[in-house]
Amino acid sequence: MKYQSTRGGAEALSFEEVTLAGLAPDGGLYLPTQWPRFSEDEIAAMAGLPYAQLAQRVMQPFVGDSLTPEKLLELCEQAYGRFAHDAVTPLVQLDSQHWLLELFHGPTLAFKDVALQLLGLFFEEFLSRTGEQLTIVGATSGDTGSAAIDGVVGRERVDIFMLHPDGRISDVQRRQMTTVIAPNVHNIAIDGSFDDAQASVKRMFNDPAVTDRFNIGAVNSINWARLMAQVVYYFASALQLGAPKRKVAFSVPTGNFGDVFAGYVAAQMGLPIAKLVVATNINDILHRALSEGDYSAGTVTPTSAPSMDIQVSSNFERLLFDLGGRDGAAMAAQMADFEKTKAMRLTNSQQGGAAALFTSIRCDETEMAQAMRWANEHAGQVVDPHTAIGLHAARAIEWDADVPVVTLATAHPAKFRDAVERSTGQRPSLPSRVGELFEREERYTTLSGDYEAITEFVTSNATPK
Ligand SMILES: *Cc1c(COP(=O)(O)O)cnc(C)c1O
Repeated sequence: MKYQSTRGGAEALSFEEVTLAGLAPDGGLYLPTQWPRFSEDEIAAMAGLPYAQLAQRVMQPFVGDSLTPEKLLELCEQAYGRFAHDAVTPLVQLDSQHWLLELFHGPTLAFKDVALQLLGLFFEEFLSRTGEQLTIVGATSGDTGSAAIDGVVGRERVDIFMLHPDGRISDVQRRQMTTVIAPNVHNIAIDGSFDDAQASVKRMFNDPAVTDRFNIGAVNSINWARLMAQVVYYFASALQLGAPKRKVAFSVPTGNFGDVFAGYVAAQMGLPIAKLVVATNINDILHRALSEGDYSAGTVTPTSAPSMDIQVSSNFERLLFDLGGRDGAAMAAQMADFEKTKAMRLTNSQQGGAAALFTSIRCDETEMAQAMRWANEHAGQVVDPHTAIGLHAARAIEWDADVPVVTLATAHPAKFRDAVERSTGQRPSLPSRVGELFEREERYTTLSGDYEAITEFVTSNATPK
């Protein structure tokens, strides 16, 4: 399997190369050159497999000969062996139509563990072949940082530098990063906003003074391997609910469009999906794009679902490219325009193509709180604010009675316990697997938002290629 850039100006890469690469040199995102497809019989034969075996079957066509089936299975067993539930991503029934897919049983309590636990193992395997060293630089407004750090802590060939905006993330989120004390983990609190931190990270990726000496890698969802790992739980849950004989719908709390794009990939591979519901909060650029064709960025309004507080959804470009006939030059022109004006119209083929599978719902804070109370009162389930937005969207649509509707539960409620307590009066407690988070020593470096100060810190602490 080869990978191509959405902007048509980069050479094709193997799975191994694309995993270590991040953003393509032409500024695009990588996608497989074609979608592998399973027959109905092949999908039916996956029913009942343990999660790690299913993961190996679903991912092998993307991995190609970068990993043998035996090696890929071994890595999946290692990654998913660390989850606190045997099913890895269990389904919970809410009523006769609605289900929750619990994606938060990994070490840091958010769905990002499903991909990042595996990504850490891919890094180690591929780097050991070349003997090279990888320097991961990332910015986080919450959940990505801790999941990425947990995925690479203690790995010899990887250094990780994670920037967060000082004082602007929750105590639980900060402590999940800063109490990981290991020589390869560097937490940096930036005097500035998340956008400032993100801008420095992007600049570093294109700064020869850094990239000549260091292999800079990405762990956000521009990394293809992350999306690939997320395809698996769409298969796992649909199979349990009767696929491939029966179509299943999914409602996905969406920010950067990574998680719901994985659902689109599952559909391209042959999984019968009735609908993918893109659930947004009041930062609703994706809702406007899908319902009206208007993809224009405003300013971010902070909400109690911070992982969905975004202006620009990087992975949306992957969908637009695929729906627009995979024309790299046209995509590059469309994105260049967007980068200039912060606004663009979807073409008819993009908007029409998306409407065949996607629909979208925008959810405000009141509706979010109502959904949280509904889950609690009617199904005895305490859900986090992100999941509540997905659930609101799932319940706002009229479904045929025979379609099971699965809402992706993207975070453990204890990660956002103040918001949960405000809406339900219940304060969820942290599961014992995160340990005594508030008793542990914290370690992090505070820097000004200044680009030079950040690169100076990274280059003097990272291991060169
Ligand atoms: C990251 C995150 C999301 C958004 O996922 P995308 O792939 O960026 O759309 C939703 N909920 C939670 C809890 C998250 O951590």
